[in-house]
Amino acid sequence: MNLRSIMKENMNEMDSFHVVKKMPHIHCARGPKGCEKCKDYEKKGDTWALVKILLTPGEWARPITQVILKGQKIHAEYDIEMRFNDIIDAKKYAQDHEIEIQMF
Ligand SMILES: [Zn+2]
Repeated sequence: MNLRSIMKENMNEMDSFHVVKKMPHIHCARGPKGCEKCKDYEKKGDTWALVKILLTPGEWARPITQVILKGQKIHAEYDIEMRFNDIIDAKKYAQDHEIEIQMF
């Protein structure tokens, strides 16, 4: 099932949602294989982040992440909105704001 059909069936008006997820530091859509800056960023490792998942394609190519939406794994563009110091911070923020933590 692709993203578009999931959107049609379930999402209607929703064009984005938030998750808390461990994310790599990525600079642009080219990724570490195509971009020196991405290679540098990648060395920082994965950290917990507040991630805005975008269900409609943006004007420019963003990196893609895998998330679970309505029980289905999908690939979608995203923006990192915040980084957390550790999982304790991440969990607290997720609880306070009723945002789903995704670990897989
Ligand atoms: Zn880059």
